[in-house]
Amino acid sequence: MDIPFPVPAKKEVLLRVLRVGICGTDRDIISGFYGEAPQGSEYLVLGHESLCRIEKLGPGVRGLKVGDLVVPTVRRGCPENCVSCRNEQSDMCYTGHYKEHGIKRLDGFASEFARSNSTYVVKLSESLSHLGVLLEPLTIVEKGLVQSAVLQKSRVIWNPERVLVLGAGPVGILATALLRLQGLDVDAVATRSKDSMKARLIESTGAKYVNAKETPIASLDNQYDMVFEITGSPAVAAQAQDLIRVNGILCYLGIYREDQESQNVGKLFTELVLGNKLHFGSVNANISYFAKGAKDLVRIQKKWPNLLSSIITRKAGPYNPQKIYSPESEEEIKSIVEFSGD
Ligand code: BGC
Repeated sequence: MDIPFPVPAKKEVLLRVLRVGICGTDRDIISGFYGEAPQGSEYLVLGHESLCRIEKLGPGVRGLKVGDLVVPTVRRGCPENCVSCRNEQSDMCYTGHYKEHGIKRLDGFASEFARSNSTYVVKLSESLSHLGVLLEPLTIVEKGLVQSAVLQKSRVIWNPERVLVLGAGPVGILATALLRLQGLDVDAVATRSKDSMKARLIESTGAKYVNAKETPIASLDNQYDMVFEITGSPAVAAQAQDLIRVNGILCYLGIYREDQESQNVGKLFTELVLGNKLHFGSVNANISYFAKGAKDLVRIQKKWPNLLSSIITRKAGPYNPQKIYSPESEEEIKSIVEFSGD
């Protein structure tokens, strides 16, 4: 649809959108399960994973210039300006009244032009001019990993070796790469066969790919220092805690639909206590994780030159949204919408 051309306010930038990534959250919004349009608006522009160039600066913008390759963060702080939001941690907002571009009460970036507060855009190396659209999903893992390390170092002598990644979508593959960059032993689990593209990408980093259809996760040993649960499946999440070793940590990164499955909570709590185990959830990422991710994306690209481009399995223009927003073939990993070939 045609929407009004965005005009940047004093501290805002006008963005020419190059590419937008599509994820499960977009599909949940389309199906009406999640998301909220801006107040008083009849529609929500999608798109929270983006890569843009600065087209124009508002009169009060410093430190950026026209033509810079940038990625805007997703979340903006709450109107109450809670202690987290006023300290650059809107990802930890206390009130829950935050807004998210393309998800909750703020239009996203799936349009030729968009605008953002200039303090929430991160500059990217020109070497990422085709792949920087993968930064936002990487930031989800950056936060999970930083927080896991901070939590663990505060309570135990922390020297992790083995990590399990449950789910090998784009976030799972990026998690695997980031963990491998740190020299950790990684096993990554998904349901596609061992000769699928996902499996090959995982194994190209030196991690081990486990096909859950052949090797049920309950049969994996329970000696992982860290587990990242990224499948979003309540059934998988319920089994994940059995797989961490004593003193280990489990980070949930999915959005879980409620289900009726009952779980033996007594066993869960006893194992948590007797094993000094820690479980925590993590959502979104503030600008510090975007800045860290922008550097790590360059490192990933240098170390495995084919990995990032192979995650993007489909590119299409914006003119057939029904098609591009529907899941692709069996081999789909990440679909992106290209607004400009630049
Ligand atoms: C986005 C996050 C967002 C979360 C919940 C995810 O898909 O990557 O930035 O906070 O959805 O809305």
